[in-house]
Amino acid sequence: MKTVACVAATAADKPLEKSTLDRRDLRDDDIMIEVEYSGICHSDIHTVRGEWGPCHYPMSPGHEIIGRIVETGPAVTGFEVGERVGVGCLVDSCGECEQCLAGQQQDCLNGNVGTYNSKDRRDGSITQGGYSTHIPVSQDFAIHIPESLDPAAAAPLLCAGITTYSPLARFGAGPGTKVAVVGMGGLGHMAVKLAAAMGAEVTVISHSHAKEDDGRRFGAVDYVATGDDPRALDRLRGAFDLIINTISAPFDAVDYLRALKPHGAMVLVGLPPEPMKIPAGALIGGGKILAGSNIGGIPQTQEMIDFCAEHGITAEIELIGADQINEAYDRVVDSDVRYRFVIDAKTF
Ligand code: NAP
Ligand code: ZN
Repeated sequence: MKTVACVAATAADKPLEKSTLDRRDLRDDDIMIEVEYSGICHSDIHTVRGEWGPCHYPMSPGHEIIGRIVETGPAVTGFEVGERVGVGCLVDSCGECEQCLAGQQQDCLNGNVGTYNSKDRRDGSITQGGYSTHIPVSQDFAIHIPESLDPAAAAPLLCAGITTYSPLARFGAGPGTKVAVVGMGGLGHMAVKLAAAMGAEVTVISHSHAKEDDGRRFGAVDYVATGDDPRALDRLRGAFDLIINTISAPFDAVDYLRALKPHGAMVLVGLPPEPMKIPAGALIGGGKILAGSNIGGIPQTQEMIDFCAEHGITAEIELIGADQINEAYDRVVDSDVRYRFVIDAKTF
């Protein structure tokens, strides 16, 4: 057991604070990672603040983790001390069900184990995430990070990157397809960059014009602001093959479904706490598909990282210290992040 520095939440309505937590001794298949950078995902905020239901405190969140291996267990074969690696939202799954065998560990039929606020399958302890100086993880859930990627800017790929890459790949974003990205925060800006790199024609649908120059710089050919123009979506009727919807707050899905071409698909990746109501007719007319997508499996996460290395893609980040996390949370909720906060682990 090793006691390490961290930042943790102690209750839904209290600010996060500096603390310590105990890290297990390495299991045979574990690597110990000295964390270099840790991204702040809106899911950390939903979870910490109890918006998705009760959770375990104290909780050190963080599932966009980049660092170097400082120790390996005796059964580790695929990784070496000194190598740069990443950890995303998953640290374990059953490994035996059809989803795990297909490399879709996020959809493990026996329940995946999240990087934090989840029950460890082997010892029943509650997992603790990347807002800490060290994290042990089974080699089966670690991702190789090429040295060519800037490590701070690559951290958000481990959640925001794979969560948007996976549905873009599944629904065939590429040359000749028109893709809209709704909400240009952490996930949304990655979706724009990835869809453009895949060869799709990308439109950003944001609630303001504030991010227009950035959206075009990330690869969008069009940008529509809905906030000050209620009719903006009307002009997009039947425009898109695929919509990746990243909005984190309640919204009317029907408005966006109208913007799909017949047989087009809207994929929800944003997870507003409230349920949504959709009339069947909004899907039946035009045979439209409404889908969801949950991060991505480990093989596809490695594929996404390799794609990003090949295309020189990383996140746009604001690097912060541990004492700025609470302020950063408020800025994310206010859509005032350009475009992902990443914490320097030296400050934990
Ligand atoms: P984020 O950085 O806060 O981005 C969310 C974006 O949604 C904002 O930048 C904003 O974009 C838009 N938005 C926010 N409030 C809105 C409102 N009231 N009306 C319209 N648009 C609004 O959050 P994120 O980290 O990208 O995460 C987005 C969502 O995805 C969260 O709910 C998160 O929990 C979820 N998530 C899901 C998965 C998954 O596996 N499915 C993985 C990670 C995260 P504009 O300013 O451009 O309008
Ligand atoms: Zn996330």
